[in-house]
Amino acid sequence: MTQEELWQAVLAQIQLNISQANFATWFKSTEIVSFKEGEIVIAVPNSFAKEWLENKYGKTIFKILYNLDKEIKDVKYSVGKSELKVIRRPQVPLPSAGQLEFEEFKINKETNLNPRYTFDNFIIGPFNELAHAAAWAAAKKPGLVYNPLFIYGGVGLGKTHLLQALGNAVIKNFSQKKVRYIPAERFTAGVVSSIKNHDMEDFKIKYRAIDVLILDDVQFLAGKEKTQEEFFHTFNTLYEANKQIILSSDRPPKAIPALAERLRSRFEGGMIGDIGYPDYETRVAILKAKSQERGVSFSEEILDYIASNIQRNIRELEGALNRLVAYQKINNQNPNLEITKSLLRSLFLSPNKVANPKKIIQTVAEFYDLKEREILSNSRKKEIVKPRQVAMFLLREVLKGSYPFIGRKFGGKDHTTAIHACEKIQKELEADEGLSNEVELIRQRIFSA
Ligand code: ADP
Ligand code: MG
Repeated sequence: MTQEELWQAVLAQIQLNISQANFATWFKSTEIVSFKEGEIVIAVPNSFAKEWLENKYGKTIFKILYNLDKEIKDVKYSVGKSELKVIRRPQVPLPSAGQLEFEEFKINKETNLNPRYTFDNFIIGPFNELAHAAAWAAAKKPGLVYNPLFIYGGVGLGKTHLLQALGNAVIKNFSQKKVRYIPAERFTAGVVSSIKNHDMEDFKIKYRAIDVLILDDVQFLAGKEKTQEEFFHTFNTLYEANKQIILSSDRPPKAIPALAERLRSRFEGGMIGDIGYPDYETRVAILKAKSQERGVSFSEEILDYIASNIQRNIRELEGALNRLVAYQKINNQNPNLEITKSLLRSLFLSPNKVANPKKIIQTVAEFYDLKEREILSNSRKKEIVKPRQVAMFLLREVLKGSYPFIGRKFGGKDHTTAIHACEKIQKELEADEGLSNEVELIRQRIFSA
């Protein structure tokens, strides 16, 4: 079991025991970020969620984890990557049972490549055929056929996989070539810190010694002028020396805002390949291949259910599959269609159908532990005013309600009250991270029931 599978196994159990709303609110965007020497670290999106998970679900989470792997002694929660806090430490060291095997792939420190991404496990369909063929050709003859190679497509559709497969193939075909994969954001951070530390020369030398440079998600260079300039020079040096450059983005070069013209025209100067949305047959093929990798197989009916419900994101297809694999591993049997539906329900929510004024007001009231009528009252108490303003703000934001409409929904208040509330919250959201987390959690609750 990988960390991902282990966490999915925990989620699968928790999901069966709590409401969908709670599940979506507290467990969305959580993951295991490390598992070392019996200590698990779970990343959560914000400190609010951290507190809730620790206090309300900490024991349950620990129990489930411990049942899955007796080596687990500690569970910690962290917001982003910092701020660690122990929530449970049993007094006696527990015997190790070594139940589960953790086979995380090691990322190569030199190249930044993850060996799990290969051409062998990249499924080809009409939507990515061209991008795949170009990447394949570039891996066979780096620097000679398509230079630069620019791949674009939406989130979770295989850009990173393809780029890394290309890099891994080059290393396999030409062991002496220097390959380097780097997300554009990290490249930017490198430029910034080199400027700060006055070692720009080292930075330049390092990049200009590369044979195959892979820059992922170049849309993040938008507006970063200094980084663009640096990359422009690196690009030219490599290009003139016939070194291969591969780029990816979530959109074509001409649609990247605030990108220097000279860089844009460089990006457009080679081969551009796009990745579209996978067709139904390919989605099923991907699900089959990924289940096979895990040593499980699901019925056609179940694969059809997933493939019909997730159409535009291969990462989400995998996420759904992970949940079912986890269920299968815990229970030693495949889920039937009904269980599949309940395991995956929270992945398929369609938000807009569920929101209405009553629901928003109720959810806000519940969140701040108030009565609905308190929110609707004229009370000037601080602990009521703020939630009321948040509720008004959400009516505006989620339902696009007019100000008079919002005023009416709050016991016939004037539209200027609604305007004031919405503007105030809008402004505070920019300055106050705590508030913006709260609002996000409320939004999730609104959409998850
Ligand atoms: P992107 O970079 O476009 O956001 P990723 O490359 O990270 O997407 O892909 C998301 C997940 O889907 C990865 O786990 C990847 O292995 C998988 N995936 C994407 N496309 C394919 C494919 N054609 N065949 C197999 N797996 C794929
Ligand atoms: Mg990516």
